[in-house]
Amino acid sequence: MNNKKEISSDNKLVLPGDKIAVIEEFVPDETCFEKNGEIYSRVIGHILTDRKKHKISVIPKKQHHSIKNGAIGLGRVEFAKKQIASVNIFHLNHEEIPIPVSAVLHVSEASRRFVKSMYEVARPGDWVRFRIIREKKPIYISFIGDGLGVVTAYCIQCGHELNYKRPNLLECPNCDLIQARITSKNYGKPFR
Ligand SMILES: [Zn+2]
Repeated sequence: MNNKKEISSDNKLVLPGDKIAVIEEFVPDETCFEKNGEIYSRVIGHILTDRKKHKISVIPKKQHHSIKNGAIGLGRVEFAKKQIASVNIFHLNHEEIPIPVSAVLHVSEASRRFVKSMYEVARPGDWVRFRIIREKKPIYISFIGDGLGVVTAYCIQCGHELNYKRPNLLECPNCDLIQARITSKNYGKPFR
């Protein structure tokens, strides 16, 4: 039995950051990572080991939600250019996504009013609530809808979390810089 691939006998669910093995026993794949000789999971799932090849991986828990048009999600901005931003989706319809999925926000979908540039919409590191408008890859998202937009933002100058000043305007409590975002009416409450 020891030379076969096997799911961990207790079938325990592991979470991102859970320690699952030590490096002397196994080589991690892309579903886990090594730090100081220990192996940690990157995803929610079950451990799969191959003792013959000394390989370990985590099989992501099946996503019973699928990415569908109209679904509401929470994600973090990876990068922003003038016309588009790339957003990693972490939650969809209040369920965590085991491996974050990348989506695109175009500046024309940032607001009902005209917005010139993505730099007044969202910045890398910001958390945003959105709606799926194209479910096939590349996935597209929109801020147009109730409660959608930036829910947590960080200062472009000092990195401090920003405070709400008024719609679409935030203020840094650390360095006083005032900066634009397309804010959700639930700014500061990412899980509402
Ligand atoms: Zn600041």
